[in-house]
Amino acid sequence: MGKPTVRESVLRAVDMARDEIVALTQALIRVPTVNPPGDAYEPCARLLGDTLAGMGFEVEYFTATGRPEHSATHPRVNVVGRRRGRVDRPCVHLNGHLDVVPVGTGWTCDPFGGEVRDGRIYGRGASDMKAGIAAAVFAAECIRRAGVELEGTVEISGTADEESGGWAGVAHLAEIGCLTSRSVDFVIIPEPLEVDRICVGHRGVYWFEVTAHGRIAHGSMPFLGASAIEHMGELLHDIRARLQPVLASRVTAMPVVPPGARHATLNINSITGGQGGFAVQTPCVAHVCSATFDRRFLEEEPLDQVQGEIADLLAEVERRVPEARFTLRDLMLVPPVRTPEGSPLVASLTRGIHDVVGREAAIVASPGTYDHKHVTRIGGIHHCVAYGPGRLELSHQPDEWCDVDDMVRATQVIALTLVELLGTSR
Ligand SMILES: [Zn+2]
Repeated sequence: MGKPTVRESVLRAVDMARDEIVALTQALIRVPTVNPPGDAYEPCARLLGDTLAGMGFEVEYFTATGRPEHSATHPRVNVVGRRRGRVDRPCVHLNGHLDVVPVGTGWTCDPFGGEVRDGRIYGRGASDMKAGIAAAVFAAECIRRAGVELEGTVEISGTADEESGGWAGVAHLAEIGCLTSRSVDFVIIPEPLEVDRICVGHRGVYWFEVTAHGRIAHGSMPFLGASAIEHMGELLHDIRARLQPVLASRVTAMPVVPPGARHATLNINSITGGQGGFAVQTPCVAHVCSATFDRRFLEEEPLDQVQGEIADLLAEVERRVPEARFTLRDLMLVPPVRTPEGSPLVASLTRGIHDVVGREAAIVASPGTYDHKHVTRIGGIHHCVAYGPGRLELSHQPDEWCDVDDMVRATQVIALTLVELLGTSR
């Protein structure tokens, strides 16, 4: 038998590390980084930082002081580890969010126990995305254990607040210059996309609030007032009858999953009106009614059109309905992002998936946003994808789990990708 190839040595080193990958995932799950409110970031960042330091990384901590989410009781602590190769560039940055969503109900096991049963690891964040962080760590570590020296540089970060927008996490790192195109060439976010899928971006999101204004009067004589709730009802009717069919007719060329999300969509997130919320009823015509809307838009839809058609609809109802008057307030606006066509990062992961999993990689896009937006829009890094173990549909569910075989395979795919993109001097 000849000397094993770099590829064979790396794959074998990952197989040997199986129990350690599981143990790191368990240790991460046992730190309950629930967000909101943003608990336990500091111990979780330290756990990851100490692990990386023990593997030869230079480790730095970045607390998002000054951001409104950061507080003394809930500090937003981020960690970045860097292992320089023979040269600084290229540099692959692997980023995972440390936070998990609240537990909710319906669990049959301890959400922070990290129990392993029938080849699965259970717990809040098992899929989303503590297994992914462990995969990133051991992808880099097992290359070293295989005796392979990388030419380029590997960075691994654990960041805050992805589940609530990522402003004190990835956005903060990009803003202070730690995660930008000045030092990083490629970013892999090991979110739970399944072991054979590569996510190349997401649709845009436009959250806005509409307030309908009316005229208060006694509820026994509604004809003396003008109901803001009725005005909102007219608007909702127009949205359903006129806007929704147009949105449903638009289809993106981006491979968004599930297929229903390939269309433009609009959800009514909340609605409040009149003098509700009191223990006793108030006999009044509603003078105000507000609703928040969640419009997800396609890369083919220009932003001025997305916003313009809402403003046009409000104006149309105001023209048609006597006394109807609306105000519109933008709450959040994130344009779509997409990894460039022909990205070497996608090509390399595709080869890794073919090699390790034995299937053709599926290229997908996400219906909702994740930290990719900050990497690209603030950091200016275009070669960014999400690829990692776990199943998207298990995220945020009770009894969330991740398959241990998938964790090992995703680690191998990421390791082969690091070897290919960064080059070796062995
Ligand atoms: Zn996630």
